[in-house]
Amino acid sequence: MPIVKAEDLETLASRIFTARGVPESDAAWIAALLVRANLRGHDSHGVIRIAQYVASMDKGETNPTPEIRVLNETPTTAMIDYGIELAIDKARASGLSAVTLQRTNHVGRLADYVELAALQGTIGLMWVNAPLSAGVAPWGGAARRLATNPHAVGIPGPDGPALLLDFATSVVAEGKMRVKFNRKEQAPSGWMLDSEGRPSTDPQKFYGPPKGSLLPMGEHKGYGLALVVEILAGILSGTGAARDGIGPVRNGTLMLVIDPRRFLPLTSFHEQVADLVAWVKSAPLVENSKGILVPGEPEARTEADRRANGIFVEDETWAQIQAAERGASRASPFQT
Ligand code: NAD
Repeated sequence: MPIVKAEDLETLASRIFTARGVPESDAAWIAALLVRANLRGHDSHGVIRIAQYVASMDKGETNPTPEIRVLNETPTTAMIDYGIELAIDKARASGLSAVTLQRTNHVGRLADYVELAALQGTIGLMWVNAPLSAGVAPWGGAARRLATNPHAVGIPGPDGPALLLDFATSVVAEGKMRVKFNRKEQAPSGWMLDSEGRPSTDPQKFYGPPKGSLLPMGEHKGYGLALVVEILAGILSGTGAARDGIGPVRNGTLMLVIDPRRFLPLTSFHEQVADLVAWVKSAPLVENSKGILVPGEPEARTEADRRANGIFVEDETWAQIQAAERGASRASPFQT
C-alpha cells in the first residue's frame, strides 16, 4: 500500500501518457489534474483513472493528439472540442458566455475547470453528461438509464475562489464505487441497487455481471437534475442524451461563464458573498458537528494534508499503474 508524494505521482503519470504518444505539455496537464484530484480528496478522479485512459487510447477511443476545432461561434457562444479559456474570454468581453464541448473523453473533476473561471473573477458553471455510460437508475426504476451527470459552480473571491461546489447528481460519483471495489470494501447503504433493484452494499454487484445501479442523490431531486443535465450538456453540445448501449465515455459539456462586474462592482460582490458565508457559519452547531464548511473547504483542507503527508494509493490501483507503465493493460471491470 504505497504512500506517494504528489510530485512523484505526477511525474510517473506524465511519463505513462507521453509513452502513449500524448504531447508532453498535454501529458503534464492530465497528470497534474489527476494528482490534483487525489490531493483534493477525490481519489475517484485521481490516478485510479490512469488505467482507464491508457486502455481508452489503446482501443483507439481516445486520440492522444487531437486537432481542436471551433465548430460554431458567436460573440457569446461557441461549440468546440475543448476549452474553458474561451468561455472565460467571451464572458470577460460580453458579460456572459455559453460554450459546449463535444467529442471529449472523460473530463475528470469539474471543479478544476470552474476554479479557473473563479480565479479570473468570473462565475463558472459546468454540467457534463455521458450518453453511453449509464450507471444510475431513474428515481423509481431498477436499471441504469443515466450517467452520474455532475454539476459544478465556481464563485470568485478576493483571494481565489470563495466557493467551489462540484458533485454528481447520483448519491456519489461512480468513481467512488471504483475506489471501494479496488480497496475490497463494502459501499455504505443507500448508494446502490443490485441488478434486481434491491438495495445492496456490494460493489461487485454494481459492476456485475449482471450490473446493478447507483441511486440518484436526493431521490426525485437528483434524478430531475440529472435529466436536465442530459438536455443542457448532452443535447445542446451535440454529444447526445442518454440512450441504449454501452460505449466509450463521451462527456458532453456545457460551460456557462458570468462576469459579475456586469451586475455590480466586484468589491460589493465579494463583500456580499463573504457576508453570506459568515451568516451561514454563525449557526449553532449540532451535537458532534465538525463545524460548518462551505463547498471547496473540505478539498482545501485535504490538499494541505496530502501535500505534506503524501497520497495513499491502494494496491490494486498501484498494480494497474505499474502495468500501464510497462505498456500493458491490466484487466479491469470498469467500463471506459
Ligand atoms: P461529493 O459527494 O464528495 O461532494 C463534493 C462537493 O460537496 C464539493 O463541492 C465539496 O466541497 C462539498 N462538500 C463536501 N462536504 C461538505 C461539507 N461538510 N460542507 C460543505 N460542502 C461540502 O462529490 P461526488 O458527487 O462524489 O463527486 C466527486 C467528483 O466526481 C466531482 O469532482 C465531480 O466533478 C466528479 N464527477 C465527474 C464526472 C465525469 O464524468 N467527468 C461524473 C461524475 C462526477
